[in-house]
This record gives sequence, C-alpha cells and structure tokens, in this order.
Amino acid sequence: MTQTKTHALVVATHNKGKLDELRQIFADLDVTLLSLDDVGRGALTVVEDGDTFEANAVKKARAVAAATMMMTLADDSGLEVDALGGAPGVRSARYAHGRATDAENNAALLGAIEALTKDPTGTGAGEGALKARFRCVLALVDPFLRDGEPHVVDGACEGEITRTPRGSGGFGYDPLFLVDGTDRTMAELSEAEKNQVSHRAKASAKMKLALEKVLAERDTFTRRVSGE
Ligand code: IMP
Repeated sequence: MTQTKTHALVVATHNKGKLDELRQIFADLDVTLLSLDDVGRGALTVVEDGDTFEANAVKKARAVAAATMMMTLADDSGLEVDALGGAPGVRSARYAHGRATDAENNAALLGAIEALTKDPTGTGAGEGALKARFRCVLALVDPFLRDGEPHVVDGACEGEITRTPRGSGGFGYDPLFLVDGTDRTMAELSEAEKNQVSHRAKASAKMKLALEKVLAERDTFTRRVSGE
C-alpha cells in the first residue's frame, strides 16, 4: 500500500543517484522527495559560481525554492587537498576544464601534485602524505518558514591522495582517495561501505535531524492556522 505523506521536498539535483540515496535516508520521515522533473523544473540550472560549497548549496536551494515555492534541499561537494591549498574544492567537477570527465579531472589532480613536487618553493609534499578530504554541504530552504533562511549542515570524510589509482567502484576522485583508517581507496569500498563513511552520508544524517525539526514546525504552523 502506498502511504501518502504530508510534506513534499524538492531536491535540487539532476543526479538520480543522489536523489535515491536521500530517499533511503529520509524514508521514515513524513516527507516525499521530488526531483526537479517531478515539479516541472527539469530545465532549471543554477550557475555554481560561489567560492565555497556552502555558497553554492545555498544559492541552488534558494533559486529552486523561489521558482517552485516549495521546501528545497540542495548540495554541493568536492575534494580538498591540503598541499594544493584546498583545490580542487568548489572546482572539483571541472578541475581539468569546463566539461571534464572523471578521468581528465583525476589526471589534472595527479598533474598538479606532480608539479608541486617539482616546485622548489612548494611544500615538498612529494614524499609525504597528501592529506585530503571529501566535503559535502547540504542546504535546506523553506520559503514559508523563517523568511526562507537556509539550514546548512556539512559532512567530511578524511583521507589522503595516492598517486596510484585503485578500485572500480564509486565515481569522481574515488580511485585516488585513500580512506583514513582503512588501507583502501574509496573506489575499493562497496557501495554500502562508502555510505557508512562518506561526506554525503554524514551531511545527510545531520540534515535528517534538521529536517525533522522543520517538518514539526510546519505541522505546528498548519495546526495554528487551521485552528486545531
Ligand atoms: P557535485 O557536488 O555532485 O557537483 O560534485 C562535484 C564533484 O566533486 C564531482 O564531480 C566529483 O569530481 C567530486 N566528488 C563529489 N563527491 C564525490 C565522491 O563521493 N567521490 C568522488 N568524487 C566526488
């Protein structure tokens, strides 16, 4: 039997994998997660030109909430390498160039690390560990509560970069990212294992708590206006 839920939430992504992952995590909440296509906004794109993951996530959530007048969740994520001053960072998806593939971005990352080790003024990170982390920021905007002020949470997964890619799972920089506390790259973890440690899983778990509060606030508001 399909259960009807009280609330609806638009997820500001064109990535079906992310939407499915969030649907699983929020399955027991009284909210239906909708894609941009579901709300007739499949063509909507927001330019991600912020300097931080938070700026991009908030920009996307605000834009989609304004276009749909619905509660909206948006994310931004990427890889930060300490020896590269936090790069690729917000440019993770387009590190090599504007329409780069994962393979091109991975090659660009290894190239930047190689250049660093040859730079006499560099940090000399060549021989040492290349500390890095995946980071994910999620922003929730409810156009009808708190003047649309965003709720923002983040999650990180610490590790280091290996110059020898390993594994075939996941996507993006996973084959180059050795997960702290394991001797495996992110691409060598099963999907279930990745979902235990990933930056997105950690941010989503935090967002679940924030979302629960927002839904309760909405319920209180509805009861008040309907005089219950
Ligand atoms: P977005 O937040 O989906 O736009 O992701 C930005 C970019 O960050 C992706 O294209 C990947 O290059 C990188 N990225 C984000 N999350 C992951 C991950 O879990 N594994 C590997 N790369 C990631």
